[in-house]
Amino acid sequence: MDKEWAYCKSSNPRAFYDGAKKFVNSIHASKGYPEKIQCPCSSCINVWSYPPRTVLDHLTSNGIYESYINWTFHGDEPRTTVQEENMESFENLETYKMYRDAQLNDDFMEPAPENIESDVTNLVNEAELPLYKGCPSTKMSATVMFFKFKARYGLSDNGYDELLEMVGSLLPEDNILPSSLYSTKKLLKAFDLGYEKIHACVNDCCLFRKDLEHKETCPKCGASRWKVNKRTQKIEKGVPAKVLRYFPIIPRFRRMFRDAEKAEQLTWHETHKSQDGKMRHPVDSLAWKKIDSKWPEFAKDPRNLRLGLSSDGFNPFGDLSSRYSCWPVVLVAYNLPPSLCMSKENLMLTLLIPGPKQPGNDIDVYLEPLIEDLRELWINGLY
Ligand SMILES: [Zn+2]
Ligand SMILES: [Zn+2]
Repeated sequence: MDKEWAYCKSSNPRAFYDGAKKFVNSIHASKGYPEKIQCPCSSCINVWSYPPRTVLDHLTSNGIYESYINWTFHGDEPRTTVQEENMESFENLETYKMYRDAQLNDDFMEPAPENIESDVTNLVNEAELPLYKGCPSTKMSATVMFFKFKARYGLSDNGYDELLEMVGSLLPEDNILPSSLYSTKKLLKAFDLGYEKIHACVNDCCLFRKDLEHKETCPKCGASRWKVNKRTQKIEKGVPAKVLRYFPIIPRFRRMFRDAEKAEQLTWHETHKSQDGKMRHPVDSLAWKKIDSKWPEFAKDPRNLRLGLSSDGFNPFGDLSSRYSCWPVVLVAYNLPPSLCMSKENLMLTLLIPGPKQPGNDIDVYLEPLIEDLRELWINGLY
């Protein structure tokens, strides 16, 4: 989008007016001629909407809102940093939920050998505290809500701090709302433990792991491992162009088997095969029988895991109408009874494949760390 005009109000008022007029008309048209459009003038700062004619008047008298660099309300794609922050809050929430569910459901869990888990328990307990006495929201849910808000509207770091301060001053004194971006990130980062970040080629050719761990460019297409600034074409070293998140499955399966109740549920399929010829569970399917006959050794122990793998794209920034999609890969343990098999806490998020496009056939590249762990389980097993 042409933005030159927006910065020449004092030097060339004529060009400013012409540019503003063109801008307002094209926005009006691109939105399908609504009655009002959001006004980016320095006084309305996109909060208020007016008829196009008034927006043009505002722009000529007030000038454009200075900090409005990325025109996301007027057709620009959201900045990557906004997407990343949004991703971050989304992932932190997912990891957090994983831990919380594990904690809340693991009544049968033995005390963990390392301190790490009890630290996590403390953190979960803290995050689950009500925001203030009698408040239905928890510290965690409130914090994530604010952080998401920041990401969605590209609120600056200072603006975010001020917002928290303002809201905090309105809440009862005993509130535990984080008071700054720093403490927000600290709270969310605590649940970061659950996954590995693996850099990927921006064109989905390879993952920078194993032999390629220290490579700076993709051996297949030559693309830089680091982000390239679109405007200046400069490489921003240290900022990865694409990141795959892998949530290792082995420690999570271990946890599953440590829970006596769940370990027992894993043998459900053995004793509940359909008797009347109707299909109720994957155990009644031909595929299941085929596996049994092909690998009788494997079929002998009903606790051996039968896993389903699925993936579908979704847009984590729903209301930004962005075309960005990311691809979670989910593992399902078919051993469990039908009521639990597809329940939320038994769907295992294992990979988050980054967008902006669907991985297509390149999904193989991203599945690599998961397949390696699955092979390890298949060949050597887990004790
Ligand atoms: Zn205005
Ligand atoms: Zn490549």
